[in-house]
Amino acid sequence: TPVVVAIDGPSGTGKSSTSKAVAARMGMRYLDTGAQYRAITWWMLHAGVDIDDPRAVAAAAGKPSIVSGTDPLAPSITIDGTDVAAPIRGERVTGAVSAVSAVPEVRTLITDLQRSIAAEADGGIVVEGRDIGTTVLPDADVKIFLTASPEVRAARRSAEVSGRAGAPAAGGADVAATQAALLRRDAADSGRKTSPLAKAGDATEVDTSELTLEQVIECVVTLIEE
Ligand code: C5P
Repeated sequence: TPVVVAIDGPSGTGKSSTSKAVAARMGMRYLDTGAQYRAITWWMLHAGVDIDDPRAVAAAAGKPSIVSGTDPLAPSITIDGTDVAAPIRGERVTGAVSAVSAVPEVRTLITDLQRSIAAEADGGIVVEGRDIGTTVLPDADVKIFLTASPEVRAARRSAEVSGRAGAPAAGGADVAATQAALLRRDAADSGRKTSPLAKAGDATEVDTSELTLEQVIECVVTLIEE
């Protein structure tokens, strides 16, 4: 049977880079569940839905149709046919996504979509997110929870946002502001009632603070092959 790998953790832990590289190396599909929550958030903002009103968000949640491309070398995401891969990385969506993804109706719809994508993945799939090992795919074959210190995560995020992944971290003020925003999003994602960001009891925790991307990839591949 195809292998299902769940990789959870907050942002700035190397989750996306690791998940994509592992899937590519092992000939598996790849699903970025954060991109799906970002896409529905983009659509709500675009449609003028008041994202601070959970009832309005719930009422609109079923309207758009999300399609995720699962090739790890060319992941894609469209919502109602619009390619939103670029705009979902913007500050507006990043600032709004925790509120939208806390609404239970949104989670139910997106969780169902994630389960059907995983069920259809012939060669196995790496699914990255916040609640994959706990809620979406509790029977996943391999569960990994990535962590890193707040300082390391903020530095990685700053480099990513300024489009210079791997480049030296941005100036102190930038990193401090990024770190504050990251910690706010973590607190919201961890504190929500429905499927909060959490490590599954049977997940292997990997602290990536002192590891290179290549070392994290090798560690995950080893856990899958065991
Ligand atoms: O991973 P990424 O930073 O793109 O995720 C964006 C947001 O989507 C998270 O901050 C969280 O609010 C939400 N999310 C979620 N459950 C997941 C993946 C992401 O609630 N499985």
